[in-house]
Amino acid sequence: PVSAMQQERLLKVLVIGDLGVGKTSIITRYVHQVFSQHYRATIGVDFALRVLDWDHKTVVRLQLWDIAGQERYGHMTRVYYREAVGALVFDMTRMSTFQAVLKWKGDLDSKVALGNGRPVPAVLLANKCDQRAQGLCPKLPKLEAFCRDSGFIGWYETSAKDDTNIEAAIMCLVRSIMSLE
Ligand code: GDP
Ligand code: MG
Repeated sequence: PVSAMQQERLLKVLVIGDLGVGKTSIITRYVHQVFSQHYRATIGVDFALRVLDWDHKTVVRLQLWDIAGQERYGHMTRVYYREAVGALVFDMTRMSTFQAVLKWKGDLDSKVALGNGRPVPAVLLANKCDQRAQGLCPKLPKLEAFCRDSGFIGWYETSAKDDTNIEAAIMCLVRSIMSLE
């Protein structure tokens, strides 16, 4: 329950990236603290909610939107991006999904912007980092420079499977949204 002194902020995080990179798994891990190996392609637009006690004055209702099957079109409808910020995900074991990140970022930036016209905050998630121990990950370009050049506020190597950095990546995004006020 929200106390009379607290205000609510509704934040939408769009989780974006190619099919199979782990978007649904990341949302499920973040919201329900579970992971399933079982593959299930997402059907329909859906979101999950997590409520954060941000500070003594503010409750954050965080909606994590799964782009849900629109991956195959390589872009999303304009209305989908309204009032959203981005978590762009790729699969560390598949280079093509990294190459698609810039396309998704371009799509995001062309469809939504902040009130002052600047791009919305976006973080980059290099997911399935647990697979590196198996030697399954190709060598990536330096993500630090890539993020600077492409306008990401940060990047994280994540694993929805092992619960690595999922919380940190989303908190980075929320912090940046909350500090824009
Ligand atoms: P989506 O299409 O982007 O929503 O991807 P899913 O969340 O459905 O995941 C696709 C497949 O990758 C599933 O079999 C997941 O179990 C698997 N997967 C997702 N995240 C990870 C991860 O961090 N590590 C590993 N090893 N597998 C993952
Ligand atoms: Mg999915």
